[in-house]
Amino acid sequence: MPEIRKHYFLNEYCIIAEERAKRPSDFAGAAEGSGRKDSENCAFCAGNEEKTPPATAVYRNGEVLSDTEKKRVRDWDFRCFPNLYPALSPNLPLNESREKDREVIPGFGFHEVIVESPVHGKKMEDFSDKEISGLMQVYRDRACHYYAHGKISHVSLFKNSGKAAGASLDHPHSQLIALPVCPPVIERELAAIRRSQNCPYCTLLEKEKTSPRLIFENSDFVAFAPYYSTVPFEVWVLPKRHMNFLGEFSPELLFSLGEILRNVLGSYSRVLGNTPYNYMFYQLFETPWYHLNLRLLPRLSTAAGFEFNTGMYINPVSPEKAASYLKESI
Ligand SMILES: [Zn+2]
Ligand SMILES: [Zn+2]
Repeated sequence: MPEIRKHYFLNEYCIIAEERAKRPSDFAGAAEGSGRKDSENCAFCAGNEEKTPPATAVYRNGEVLSDTEKKRVRDWDFRCFPNLYPALSPNLPLNESREKDREVIPGFGFHEVIVESPVHGKKMEDFSDKEISGLMQVYRDRACHYYAHGKISHVSLFKNSGKAAGASLDHPHSQLIALPVCPPVIERELAAIRRSQNCPYCTLLEKEKTSPRLIFENSDFVAFAPYYSTVPFEVWVLPKRHMNFLGEFSPELLFSLGEILRNVLGSYSRVLGNTPYNYMFYQLFETPWYHLNLRLLPRLSTAAGFEFNTGMYINPVSPEKAASYLKESI
């Protein structure tokens, strides 16, 4: 019997309908190639730095450097630069235009690419401890950088991996979009959190830690398949301590975060093959009542008419079953 499950603290629903698919192998068709080809002419590869705009930050052995128009830093570990095809413009508008009867906000903001490795085919699950903690430090630094901008309200930090997940290039990279508005997803959460007496994330974390949906935990983080899972093998990672923003994370905590992320991606790879996926950070600056979390969504199913029509997702793999597969492979 399918189940309609309500979100932990929002008025949102998903349908767990297991009759529709059975095992991880049923999704094998969604797996993509190894991602090791197409490195020729890749603008993100080491040596091709001139093919991208000058970097805003280049990391080499923990040092932060930056490019100039004429001289690009070589031998880097991580490289951040403006997206060549930005969703928003970093230039503040001179005049505000308004369409009659409609609210129009100028498309101001920042869209940055974070290249996670100089090596084209490198996968995050194979990163060394140094690489994974270095990348988490870059995430923290870049989020802090944009939150410090007076006109930025929200920073969306995410990774698209694989074509079906929206990545146009194979080279391992994440993206960051700094927005002048707070997105409705966050507004809805904040409204619900304000109404509850305790942090709903702390409450759900307590429950999930001992549930069949727990996948993995380390000293500081817990990874689980949420009771309300919108897609097969969805995973949430939450810090055990209530923290709202990556900027508060110590180097030890950043490593711990990277370690659990690497573990989840490793088990995705073993259970689902080279699956396309997205992950995204939910965090808020100067909002101590928010509880940072990281959500991973393998792209094994496609949102279609029903999902757009209702905002409800049909998930053919229960989170309990997903957790049992992922746990076994860690
Ligand atoms: Zn490349
Ligand atoms: Zn909390």
